[in-house]
Amino acid sequence: MVPRIDVRNLVARKNYTGELEFSFDGDEALIDIPFVEFSSPVKAALKYEIFADDKTEIEGTIVFSLKGLCSRCLAETEEKIEYGAEGVFSPLPKDEEYGYRNGIIDLREFLRDSVLFALPSRLLCRACAEDDSE
Ligand SMILES: [Zn+2]
Repeated sequence: MVPRIDVRNLVARKNYTGELEFSFDGDEALIDIPFVEFSSPVKAALKYEIFADDKTEIEGTIVFSLKGLCSRCLAETEEKIEYGAEGVFSPLPKDEEYGYRNGIIDLREFLRDSVLFALPSRLLCRACAEDDSE
């Protein structure tokens, strides 16, 4: 379950910073590598900070595992991916910022983007990964 951040309510209670931990199912449609799928839910551990203009910064990590066939030798393999995610939400978004309405931040688009950025372009088994780094 992806929680929503009720900025209005948090500001009213002067809770300007906090942490969120949750997990959700990754969208298989985001994976562009043949014969590879998520082998775990995506775990998110995020911190938020709300500023005076209601701009809210979010940062933290997402962690998930992929399993499937090595992109080079087709051996079965699994890899744990850890990614530092960050985003800025604003009621009046500019540039790279995410927008939000009615004082409520919906994290889904941000999480979808973060998973997309975190995904490797290929999955390599240990032997091929070692081969590759030489
Ligand atoms: Zn391989």
